[in-house]
Amino acid sequence: MLHLSSLFHGRRRRWLYGLFSLILAFSIGLTNVIPAHAVSWFELLIRGAQIIQLSRISDQQEVELGSQINEELIKSGQAKIYPNRALTKYINNIGQQLARTSSRPNISYTFQVVDDRSINAFATMGGFVYINTGLILKADNEAELASVIGHEIGHIVGRHAIEQMRERAIAQGVLSTAGLDTSQAVQIGVELALTRRNSRQDELEADRFGLENLTKAGYAPSGMLGFMQKLLEAGGGSTPTFLSTHPATSERIELLEQSIDPKTANVGKGLDKQAYKSQIRHL
Ligand code: ZN
Repeated sequence: MLHLSSLFHGRRRRWLYGLFSLILAFSIGLTNVIPAHAVSWFELLIRGAQIIQLSRISDQQEVELGSQINEELIKSGQAKIYPNRALTKYINNIGQQLARTSSRPNISYTFQVVDDRSINAFATMGGFVYINTGLILKADNEAELASVIGHEIGHIVGRHAIEQMRERAIAQGVLSTAGLDTSQAVQIGVELALTRRNSRQDELEADRFGLENLTKAGYAPSGMLGFMQKLLEAGGGSTPTFLSTHPATSERIELLEQSIDPKTANVGKGLDKQAYKSQIRHL
């Protein structure tokens, strides 16, 4: 005690008081559950720059956020990654080819297979794309599968998830003038990944980007139209999940028919059914 008190003199004393109160405040901050909308300036200070301005998010921040959403999706078991290296490598190869020829080739992309037999695919942000095993099985060839991946990349190119995150944060009253707290952004990102219903406008834009991307990567554009028509017909009373999260199907088909020249529809790679079957034989 005596020893310690001798330290509490002059500048040193003030400095130590400061340090102790900082440690105290920090431990209070850690043990108390503070409602996220009431995050204090002090907490923000010790957490560092963890507030995101969605309106001017940098590529690096977006990739980091996408990575944290990915971690949470996997950790919580909401996205169960299919544990097959060869298949993941195959899907990732297709995705990386498309990413390179997309209108947003400068960020890193991660393509993962989700162990889920429902026919669906989704993208979050910062290059994270997920394809269900059910959708891989539904496609008849690589061009069809690539068209879906291209469409999902289109959502990332159009930064659709960021805009939806902004809207959701406003609706939940958690967007402050300073921005959005990272942990809440991750939480909203996870919700959106699983339940998002894309707007008609976003769908049409993702199709436009996707078709352009598919063609540039050398795939036969017919894959996109073919797969979309197949989904619509597949219904049999139950709508494939992909169509409920990616609406406006008949309008999309119509626009694709107008955009694809029948003369060149089948020009390009990815139409070999047998080769595709062999690539996905692990499923
Ligand atoms: Zn979509």
